[in-house]
Amino acid sequence: MDIKDTEQLFGNWNYPTDIRFGHRRSFELGAVCTELNMTKPLLVTDHGLVDNVFIQELLQSTSDSGISTEVFSKVKSNPTGFNIQSGVEAYNNGQHDGVIAVGGGSALDAGKTIALMSGQTKPLWDFEDKGDNWKAINPDGIAPVIALPTTAGTGSEVGRAAVIVDEAAHAKKIIFHPDMMPKVVIADPGLTVGLPAALTAATGIDAFVHNLEAYCSPNYHPIADGIALEGMRLIKQWLPLAFNQGGDIVARSHMLVASTMGASAFQKGLGAVHALAHPLGALYDKHHGLLNAILLPYVLVANKSAIKKKLSHVCQCLDLNDYSFDGFLSWTLEFRKVLRIPHTLSAIDITADKTDLIGKLACADAAAAGNPIPFTAEQYSNILINAITGNL
Ligand SMILES: [Zn+2]
Repeated sequence: MDIKDTEQLFGNWNYPTDIRFGHRRSFELGAVCTELNMTKPLLVTDHGLVDNVFIQELLQSTSDSGISTEVFSKVKSNPTGFNIQSGVEAYNNGQHDGVIAVGGGSALDAGKTIALMSGQTKPLWDFEDKGDNWKAINPDGIAPVIALPTTAGTGSEVGRAAVIVDEAAHAKKIIFHPDMMPKVVIADPGLTVGLPAALTAATGIDAFVHNLEAYCSPNYHPIADGIALEGMRLIKQWLPLAFNQGGDIVARSHMLVASTMGASAFQKGLGAVHALAHPLGALYDKHHGLLNAILLPYVLVANKSAIKKKLSHVCQCLDLNDYSFDGFLSWTLEFRKVLRIPHTLSAIDITADKTDLIGKLACADAAAAGNPIPFTAEQYSNILINAITGNL
């Protein structure tokens, strides 16, 4: 039975980083800056959030602690290398000593990458997550980050990587370093109540897919598996309520922790849903969570032979009526319908003219390595065509 008292939905955790979880905990921001010896942080958020009342409250919290904070909000919904460059200039010109990253995945990824780049001499794309590129990063040049998520989806607050668009290459690139993990996360479900229903659904399913792809990834990581199963159960239980009654702080609390769990679990690996969503997001500038939500059933069908046994266990944990592959698939379709997710990519204006290119990009994407079946570029193209046309 899940806890339903907001006062009990409260905790200080140290895995996978220092997390202060609970309603109204964002008021502790000033004290946390002091703990980390930040006296002049740069608050990074996106342009859609900057006028939100909670940004003013966060600035009040830091100024009450005698800390002067500047705001940088030139971050697009899919942050670009150019956004990072402007942020690093703002950071260095203001002689800041830390980053407060506030927002959904975009702002958190931008904040983490600005902190990373604030003290490097090499260009950003030298650090794309390939081979051991990350070893070229000077760890002493990485500024500390405090992360405050405002969506329950990406879990970027507990991630050691960021996704940034390389506009010249028309690609989303992953930047990774173990020290990109925020020093402190303040997870206040109150910051997520203003998220509109459609975004609540898209980001919530993104969190579900993180847990599911991590669980289905063949790599050996039972710690991640345990987290992923409970993360999925919480999302099945609470996402419909968060979607229908955005102000319900209990539902928002359970969703926020489930999203943190998803990103903790996917250190194990992701899979074909993300491998396809990354190039689609870069080429069509569509919402990452929405792409994942639409793609999910088509990828499940393509992965069926490799995942049906594992899914039977997922069905038990989710307390579904039917533990078969078809039982899980029909529950997924119904869950998407309740959350008003479109059934096809054509419904969000994605057409079939770039399927060859996207198949190749998906096959080369870092997330593809975690998929239980190593699909070829052609197989990725075929899954994509099915998702465009609705051929399940
Ligand atoms: Zn995702």
